[in-house]
Amino acid sequence: ALTLSGLHKAFGTVQAVQNVSLTVARGETVALLGPSGCGKSTVLRLVAGLERPDAGTVAVGGRDVTRQPPETRGVGLVFQDYALFPHLSVLDNVAYGLRVRGVARAAAQAQAREALALVDLTGLDGRRPAQLSGGQAQRVALARALATRSPLLLLDEPMSNLDERLRSDLRAGLRGLFARIDAGVLLVTHDQREARALAGRVVILRAGALVQAGPTETVFAQPATAWVAAFLGERN
Ligand code: ATP
Ligand code: MG
Repeated sequence: ALTLSGLHKAFGTVQAVQNVSLTVARGETVALLGPSGCGKSTVLRLVAGLERPDAGTVAVGGRDVTRQPPETRGVGLVFQDYALFPHLSVLDNVAYGLRVRGVARAAAQAQAREALALVDLTGLDGRRPAQLSGGQAQRVALARALATRSPLLLLDEPMSNLDERLRSDLRAGLRGLFARIDAGVLLVTHDQREARALAGRVVILRAGALVQAGPTETVFAQPATAWVAAFLGERN
């Protein structure tokens, strides 16, 4: 579903992403882990087309999209701060991405309702974001990405605002959902339980560079460096 080759991105003197290459196959979930500021969100933004790389390429579904605008890349994105439109209803927030992709209003709303049901938010269609709890707003953001039925989902801390009970419910729900929709998923998370429950492989970044990648349980059992061991250990 996704192939990144030799991606570089600097902001002024900060090398946010340095020579990152990775793949996500269809139906596979890959977790992107690393300390705050290591470049995780920047990688997702490069994939989504919200940033342009200084070097390297982004291919989605075998198509080089490095120079394509975000709407044509075939990716669904959940932002870290989930950025809902305050003036739109829940339903319209979820349908919005479909409308900009040219889906007719009725079809977009039907797809949006289906996505809201998947995250257990049926019945809140008419609310505004300000009338939702943090966890509900986060699930609306997730529904918005799911509604696009993209073969590639980019999730930046999709459960960071949820309490442990909701998290474990949603973790179980997402596992089944990802398997069912056969999408590739690139998941940024600080929660190792989330990574272990959802991801078959993990990729670890340090200061913009990839330091270890491999099957989830292998990486946890055999950290490649003392730094990786310490990073994983301190969050266990
Ligand atoms: P966190 O876990 O805290 O969300 P992250 O791994 O997602 O961190 P990024 O947001 O990708 O980190 O940031 C990587 C580096 O790039 C940081 O040093 C950050 O300050 C810098 N950076 C990110 N976006 C910008 C920007 N638009 N302008 C300048 N610097 C930026
Ligand atoms: Mg981030």
